[in-house]
Amino acid sequence: MRADTELRYLKGVGPRRAEKLAEAGFELLEDLLYVLPFRYEDRRSFATIDELEIGAVRTIEVSVVSSRLIRTRRRNFTIFEAEVEDESGQVRAVWYNRRYLEAAFTAGRRVVLFGKTVVKRGRTVIENPDYEFLDAEDTQGIHTGRIVPVYRKLADLTPRMLRQLLYRALADLDEGTLSERVPAEITGRHDLMPRIEALRRVHFPEPDADLVELQERRTAAHRTLAFEEIFLVQSALAIRRHGFRKKERGIAYEVPDALRTKLARMLPFKLTAAQKRVLREIGADLRSPHPMNRLLQGDVGSGKTIVALLALLVAIENGYQGALMAPTEILADQHFRSLKMMLDAGGIECPMLLLTGSLRASQRREVEGRIASGQAKLVIGTHTLFEGGTKFRNLGLCVIDEQHRFGVMQRSRLADKGRHPDVLVMTATPIPRSLAMTIYGDLDVSTIDELPPGRTPVKTVIRREKDRKRVYAGLRSEIARGRQAYVVVPLVEETANSDLKAATAFTTQLTGDLAPLSVGMVHGRMKLQEKDAVMLAFATGELAVLVATTVIEVGVDVPNASVMIVEHAERFGLSQLHQLRGRVGRGAAQSYCVLMVGKDIPSKVADERLGVMVETTDGFRIAERDLELRGPGVLFGTQQHGLSDLQFLAEVIRSPELLFAARDEAQAMLAQPDGHAAAEAILAALPAKWRERLELGRVG
Ligand code: ADP
Ligand code: MG
Repeated sequence: MRADTELRYLKGVGPRRAEKLAEAGFELLEDLLYVLPFRYEDRRSFATIDELEIGAVRTIEVSVVSSRLIRTRRRNFTIFEAEVEDESGQVRAVWYNRRYLEAAFTAGRRVVLFGKTVVKRGRTVIENPDYEFLDAEDTQGIHTGRIVPVYRKLADLTPRMLRQLLYRALADLDEGTLSERVPAEITGRHDLMPRIEALRRVHFPEPDADLVELQERRTAAHRTLAFEEIFLVQSALAIRRHGFRKKERGIAYEVPDALRTKLARMLPFKLTAAQKRVLREIGADLRSPHPMNRLLQGDVGSGKTIVALLALLVAIENGYQGALMAPTEILADQHFRSLKMMLDAGGIECPMLLLTGSLRASQRREVEGRIASGQAKLVIGTHTLFEGGTKFRNLGLCVIDEQHRFGVMQRSRLADKGRHPDVLVMTATPIPRSLAMTIYGDLDVSTIDELPPGRTPVKTVIRREKDRKRVYAGLRSEIARGRQAYVVVPLVEETANSDLKAATAFTTQLTGDLAPLSVGMVHGRMKLQEKDAVMLAFATGELAVLVATTVIEVGVDVPNASVMIVEHAERFGLSQLHQLRGRVGRGAAQSYCVLMVGKDIPSKVADERLGVMVETTDGFRIAERDLELRGPGVLFGTQQHGLSDLQFLAEVIRSPELLFAARDEAQAMLAQPDGHAAAEAILAALPAKWRERLELGRVG
């Protein structure tokens, strides 16, 4: 069978399953070969029935004595039981909702079972064991008697079906049709094995394979596949970057000293060394005739906004328009206000506009008119900015705040609004450098790794329902000192009515508990004007406590706030909690972050997850822990879907040497006289799914 055989021609797939698989992005046999096991089970050695122990997972070879299907009173719930024996004794195996097993488990049939022995209603049983009949040729030695791969469910395929499919596919594969992707001299230099061999061993490990290495995906076979993936990604990124740089001419701005002095005078404070450094990096990009394509990362409160504003002013002083895109209306609004204040303070003339989704149609037309005519120099907005109607006269620089909220496509659409404008993407979720390289390989990265001086680290504690009185007492005493507090409540979905009701009920309760303090609430479904009014009341100190759904998660700046209480903290990701915590602690006074944990959460679980918040305020460490616990998808949301398709991301983060080696090889290849053609050829030969994947991180 060829590697490019369509899946529907595989035995056991059929048209309906093939369609489901296609929806999930799997069309060819080769695609399926890259569905890797996420763990392995050691089913190499057999036990006898008398050796079974409660709680242990073992493999036994037995004969079926009898079996029966039990219909329960619960609808759609059946229990299937089989009595099995070997020379040492008898035991019962049970399965739930597997009525089809009735036909298979006929008396006298020999079968291998693999499962856990447990006690259910006083009886010792093996629960939901995996099975393999010894008279069934087609499953012999696939599911038992070896180190067995365990897959996640894929489309309609159960892990067991997938294992069987992959086993057959690998057995029937015409190896010649699975060409190598990494050039031979490179695989030679790094001790890699042929691709087909790596795939074989990753799916069905050799009997003497090291189980620990397998589980940690550190075997030579895993390394081979990881290298291949990274090498391809880095080649694609290098090609794109090269093409981008050479083909497209952007704007070369001038940054004369007079402008520099003028801008410096505008600042209410001295820039930190880190801010100065990233400004130099951005400045060099702005002066160069090539379009900037840069990621600016820095922890919450590290002062990215001012850096962005300075860059925007350079573009504007050069006669171009600048745009700043924020992920929420509240944030866009706040950027608008704080930028305006700074410009006014510096006596800088700069016509500014705010463009968000909540403008009335007539207002919006007017705003769009002024953007199109070039009258508006600095435009701040939400995703509305890249919707069809908005046209810029001469967009020169586009800054995107909190990048992980936007999809890659959205980014490039905004960049399309100008003729190769410079693009600066800002993120407050710092990520390890190796990860940044993998994802943003075509972006240059600048990092602000220092907070402005005079900040006292926020004190963080984990509290439970029984501590609530004490928490409120602490809150009152902070407010008595003239400070303010945020209380964040989780919304599963910003649009779910039930969630909103719960949040509203909570606020009513809190208002009662804290009386006579003034408590306000904002949530994502309020109109911008309403939100504005509440935020303003909080900003001016009229409200002591602001209850908010996660809409304040990014960016809101009320320096007087010193307490952040997060309800159901266990429902938030660590990076998200870190963002939330960043809303307080903006001055020298001590601030507090209280993580309230739900009643039903065992303290061990809460401590394990939230403990890192108590231990550190370093966003990099927190992001790393988040990655360890929940995988990379969490950092970027679902929009950057393709990202989680990278199979070896976690391994790359764990051991970046492989990444650096693969990157160096990709770059060395491209530096050869015929390197470009070679790289293009490698990429052209990839299956469509891979080519799509490699579109990742593209800007402009
Ligand atoms: P970020 O967007 O990186 O989270 P901001 O740009 O909102 O951070 O800055 C956080 C706060 O720190 C703002 O109130 C800002 O005015 C202030 N700030 C920024 N840079 C400095 C600096 N160099 N010195 C003192 N305060 C600063
Ligand atoms: Mg910010």
